[in-house]
Parts: sequence; structure tokens; C-alpha cells
Amino acid sequence: MAKQLSFGTIHEIFSRFQARCAEPEGELEHTNAFTLVVAVALSAQATDKGVNKATRGLFAVADTPQKMLDLGEEGVIEHIKTIGLYRNKAKNVIKLSRRLIDEYGGEVPSSRAAMQTLPGVGRKTANVVLNMWFRHPAQAVDTHIDRVGNRTGIAPGKDVVAVERAIEDNVPVEFAQHAHHWLILHGRYTCKARKPACSECLINDLCAWEEKTT
Ligand code: SF4
Repeated sequence: MAKQLSFGTIHEIFSRFQARCAEPEGELEHTNAFTLVVAVALSAQATDKGVNKATRGLFAVADTPQKMLDLGEEGVIEHIKTIGLYRNKAKNVIKLSRRLIDEYGGEVPSSRAAMQTLPGVGRKTANVVLNMWFRHPAQAVDTHIDRVGNRTGIAPGKDVVAVERAIEDNVPVEFAQHAHHWLILHGRYTCKARKPACSECLINDLCAWEEKTT
């Protein structure tokens, strides 16, 4: 875990991320709040690319909770069987569709607590949906963000909830909305787990990681 960076350094880091890409986008394909919830739930322990490949066909026939119920669990499995843990995920997709209809009038609820009552939806999934669909500056922390937050010193924390809180506390508010995507893209393509590309890194001079290479 690196030492906590100062406000000025964190501000400079996000200014650089913003200058390089002003409107970062998530990579999971979706057409509405419901398909986003499903796509994010399916992405646990799977790549966005793999999920997109499966959901293109799925969402073409089932882009609402009712259509998903009509398709049924076996129908969902046919579309998503290339994704890890697909049986369990298909079960949850059907259960969450049922719950959305029974409890929320077929709409995705706009609070973290309500979203987390949906089968297969945890805090991270709820935060991604709050951020990407409801435009709330929620900070979903996955393995990439956990690593970047700790290595750089932007948001050191012993677990994902601590890192989430540290991002909320440390990132200047003007960058809060897009912080999730800037950090995830940085972790996915530059600050990689095994071989971080420190020599090409935009924030090399600001990063506090003692093992970084120059
Ligand atoms: S300098 Fe290296 S460790 Fe630091 S953020 Fe960049 S890629 Fe990651």
C-alpha cells in the first residue's frame, strides 16, 4: 500500500486523465437500465468483451424483465453459456427480473440499498449502475481500481469498501463522476496487475508506488 497522496497531486492526476479523455465510457454494452444491471451482474469473473459477445443476442430478444421471464432460464443459458458461472448467473437473471416486476413495477430502482435486494446484485454492481445509468458519482471498486488506488496512493485501503470510501474522500468533486472509469481504464490498460507499463504511464512522476519503474 503506497502512502496517501496530497490533494494537489490527486488533482493533477485527474486533470491529466481528463485532458486525455474527457468523457470516459464503460465498455459493457446495454440499451437501458435493466440490460445494464444484467450485463454488470454477468460480468463478475468475466471480461467485458466476453459478456458483450453473449448479451448482444440475449438483449436482442429480452431487453425487459418480462421478456427475460418469457425467455426462461434455459433460454438465458443458451445465450450466456460462454460466460463463467453461467448456470448460477442465469438463475439470478430470472430471479431479479421477477423481483423487478413484483417489487419495483418493472423498473430498476435508483438506490443502492434497493438495487442490492436484487438477486446477484452486490454493492459493486449497484455502484456501477448508479454511476453509469443514474449519473450518481458512486465509486464501484473492482480488482483494477483496488490495485490502482493502493499502488498510486490516490486511495489506499485494506479492502474494496475502504478503497471506495477513500476515493469518495480524496477525489476532488469535479472529477468524481468519471473517476470510476478513468481508474478502471488506467488499471486495465496501463497499471496492469503483473506488468504495469510504468514507462508509458501518464502519471508516473506523481505515483507513489515504490516498485514502479521509470
Ligand atoms: S507509474 Fe506504474 S505503478 Fe504507478 S500508476 Fe503508473 S503504471 Fe501504475
